[in-house]
Amino acid sequence: MRNGEVSYWWQARGIPPRRPSLPGATEADVCIVGGGYTGLWTAYYLKRADPGLRIVVLEAAFAGFGASGRNGGWVTAALPGSRSRYARHPGGRKGVRELERQLRGTVDEVARVCLAEGIDAGLVKGGTLTIATTAAQDARLRRRLAHDRSWGDEEGTVRYLNQAELDDRLRITGAVGALYSPHCARVQPADLVAGLAGAVTRSGVLLYEATPVTSISPGRAHTPAGEVRAPFVLRCTEGFTATMPGQRRTLLPMNSSMIITGPLGDAAWKSIGWDRLETLSDEAHAYMYAQRTADGRIALGGRGVPYRFGSGLDHDGAVAPSTVAQLGRILRRMFPVAVEAGIAHAWCGVLGVPRDWCATVMVDPRTGLGWAGGYTGQGVAAANLAGRTLADLVRGVPSPLTTLPWVGHRSPRWEPEPTRWAGVRGLYTLYRTADRLESADRSARTSLLARAGDLISGIGD
Ligand SMILES: Cc1cc2nc3c(=O)[nH]c(=O)nc-3n(C[C@H](O)[C@H](O)[C@H](O)COP(=O)(O)OP(=O)(O)OC[C@H]3O[C@@H](n4cnc5c(N)ncnc54)[C@H](O)[C@@H]3O)c2cc1C
Repeated sequence: MRNGEVSYWWQARGIPPRRPSLPGATEADVCIVGGGYTGLWTAYYLKRADPGLRIVVLEAAFAGFGASGRNGGWVTAALPGSRSRYARHPGGRKGVRELERQLRGTVDEVARVCLAEGIDAGLVKGGTLTIATTAAQDARLRRRLAHDRSWGDEEGTVRYLNQAELDDRLRITGAVGALYSPHCARVQPADLVAGLAGAVTRSGVLLYEATPVTSISPGRAHTPAGEVRAPFVLRCTEGFTATMPGQRRTLLPMNSSMIITGPLGDAAWKSIGWDRLETLSDEAHAYMYAQRTADGRIALGGRGVPYRFGSGLDHDGAVAPSTVAQLGRILRRMFPVAVEAGIAHAWCGVLGVPRDWCATVMVDPRTGLGWAGGYTGQGVAAANLAGRTLADLVRGVPSPLTTLPWVGHRSPRWEPEPTRWAGVRGLYTLYRTADRLESADRSARTSLLARAGDLISGIGD
């Protein structure tokens, strides 16, 4: 089994040779810090809207080194945050509905650009399934559905599948029911980010790799090679944000870990089904997520070690053996026939979580500083929408995107250490214990422990 090496996705396509670093001090109209989906989509739409703009992207490692090249490959319309919290913005519930509508459209927008730019990222819009494997999970799914209906989601957006309907799509040991939504596509994440980086550089954006930004101030991004001066400097560093001066408590770098099997044989796929290539998750508190890959494997992720003290980061995606074993147990439980394919690769990465679990897209017109992120693990499609929004905000063009409720949203800061570490570790201990109790107990009651966890975390509905 390979471990780390950034991700299976990158190893499968080959890590590209580094693009040149910033040669020295320079000037630009817009300087973007971070070459993941957020930074690259922003550059993409800015350059298309105004080809005359001089845009520089500064990337510490290589484009797609972060979560954008390591994720589960769900291009999901799921809201990165809490509806009720976003509804406190002036747009109220209507604003939340518009954000959700835009996110649904974003899944198609990503597919459209892939087609237009010749990006072959194995994108298939098969929708998404959230399965229940315990009575308590099933009860939660039904409550979630009722909540979605109360917000106006109809059958076409989300619906319940009973066990027989689920079996018709995908056979998972122990599954009793599922929610299905069509608004999600599967993708090979590194192929997407590499293709996007290619489209961006072809359009004339200067993308400098191996160029870490050491600090940002109005009009300047500082690097060891010199500074980039620009009226707009946009921080697009999501899970890495805590490494920037002054940002230690802005976004918590939450870890997520993945494993991928070897290719499954025809007999295994025949017994599993999964012909419609839905993305898959469960309704556990410490949930799993998965996809059937374009190369015939199962890629499956979960939380693993949720957080490293002091907002620490992984080393090129290396995963602890205990996490691999934990994810392996989930794979074996859900897909016993997949076990013979073995685990080919394990890796991890960080995503950005704000204290109130609501993402932000922001440009301060007084300072020219902007940022976007905090998608809480739902960032693949959201980064596209955020990028389009940053592009409108930088150009000062009012649009339906610039009034969405995440624009200008301010999240509180995280607690200092060691409270931050103890809180996150405590939260996941509660969630995992609650999941164990729920699978041992046949009752449909959500464990009190899990409710206590929700309260500590501040996750809203
Ligand atoms: C294992 C995993 C699974 C996930 N699964 C999903 C999923 O299936 N669906 C979904 O919607 N979301 C998922 N996410 C979340 C999603 O991948 C992210 O929210 C999204 O990729 C964030 O993109 P980004 O460009 O904002 O950040 P990143 O992709 O993390 O990019 C930030 C970039 O900034 C660079 N950088 C950092 N510091 C500096 C600096 N000082 N100077 C210059 N550059 C710097 C980094 O090297 C990195 O390339 C997952 C995340 C992980 C880790």
